[in-house]
Amino acid sequence: MKIVVYTSAMLSLMVVLTCLSISSADGSEMMDSHRAKNVILMIGDGMGIAQETMARIDKAGWNLPRYADTRLYMDGMDHTGFLRTFSANSFVTDSAPASTAMATGHKTNNGVIGQDATAIPGLRDGRNLTTILELAEKAGLSTGLVTTTRITHATPAAFYAHVDNRDNESEIAEQLLTSGVEVALGGGLGYFIPTDSISPLGGKGKRADGRNLLENATSMGYMFVYNGTAFRELDINATEKLLGLFENSHMEYELIRARSSDPDPSLAEMTEKAISLLSKNQKGFFLMVEGGRIDHACHERSLENATMDTLAFDLAVGKALDFARRNNDTLVIVTADHECGGLVIQPENLESYEGGSVMPVFGSGTVEIRSPRCDFLVEMEEATHTGTDVTIRATGPGASSVYGLMDNTQVFSVVKEALGL
Ligand SMILES: [Zn+2]
Repeated sequence: MKIVVYTSAMLSLMVVLTCLSISSADGSEMMDSHRAKNVILMIGDGMGIAQETMARIDKAGWNLPRYADTRLYMDGMDHTGFLRTFSANSFVTDSAPASTAMATGHKTNNGVIGQDATAIPGLRDGRNLTTILELAEKAGLSTGLVTTTRITHATPAAFYAHVDNRDNESEIAEQLLTSGVEVALGGGLGYFIPTDSISPLGGKGKRADGRNLLENATSMGYMFVYNGTAFRELDINATEKLLGLFENSHMEYELIRARSSDPDPSLAEMTEKAISLLSKNQKGFFLMVEGGRIDHACHERSLENATMDTLAFDLAVGKALDFARRNNDTLVIVTADHECGGLVIQPENLESYEGGSVMPVFGSGTVEIRSPRCDFLVEMEEATHTGTDVTIRATGPGASSVYGLMDNTQVFSVVKEALGL
């Protein structure tokens, strides 16, 4: 048996898109006629059922008697279902079509942001799809996006941008500023600054077109912050529009962030701040919050970072649920865009189940290839997304539409109907 280790670049060459025709799942009837004034949609990127289970195990200190009584904040929500995540051209989605499905109600191809399935990444634009954030803006609601990834990364981007290729982040950054969004918090400062300028956080910008979008943002009335101190000192009453970009690229994993002497805001802090600013609008608001780096940790097979970022995401869910408890006109939805890593929670002793603890492993990214001459194993360095379903939970007006086996496109209709858009 020969072990071959592939790099991620080689891995991308090996991606095979499986084309299949899709008949979209029918939308379930709204059983709850109550309208929501506000919707908070929370997405754990790459957060499968096993990642949620690991978060409970860790929260219980890996102690079995304590584990029996351990719940995440999201476990206290009223309605639960499963969400199918396939894209228009693959059983296994990436974040771009998964988020587009939730944001617009339409399936599209892997790599595509906010355009329909006639788009081919890097080759051809598709038809632009209307997003739930755009509908909310049009109706006079305030809108917000909070993430731990770059604000131009696939999951947040699909709520405001329309590009055939998720990697076109310079253009996505421009589209953020014309979206009308009132609050945008996360990483990705580099895509707002030209290559010949120095970012306030150090290092050069990433924009080849020479434009400095921070100048555009401030002239459009955005308050711009890039560190934890400025973020915490913000006067929300004096702030109408907020752009907070705390890293040139992604924000740090929770474990690293929390150890800093002047820590960037946590996902929970950003969620609280976004809610307090958006809730000033008497018409209501739509907020998307992403725990964006659970996925990255799973790709890297880092159980520690995947678990800590899931727990940090759950703390943000707790903040959203606190607000919803005080404001019962708020619908909170918690779900994931796809699973990542194929996380398996197996016993520490594979033969006897003795010991009672667990030895979790990331199972994806390893495939056996049979050749006529010998059997050999191809082992990928990075774990991959998987096609397993994920959970969806909801609390508040319209939440009873969340049950059973749902399609990711139905997230759009649940939010749209709850807000009456
Ligand atoms: Zn991923």
